[in-house]
Amino acid sequence: MKKQHPCGSNEWQITRVGADIKIKCINCGRSIMLPRIEFNKKMKKVIQYEGDEYGKKD
Ligand SMILES: [Zn+2]
Repeated sequence: MKKQHPCGSNEWQITRVGADIKIKCINCGRSIMLPRIEFNKKMKKVIQYEGDEYGKKD
């Protein structure tokens, strides 16, 4: 995932998928939420999934 957290990590784990996407910084453990549409625009590649719900492409 390209987005970089201020702590220096650019690895994120998806912890919740819904109307909003909740992702957690793997390095520092902080979670942020963003609207799914923002997620789709900004997050081109996801490094790690929790579950495979979001990973399914149609
Ligand atoms: Zn972080």
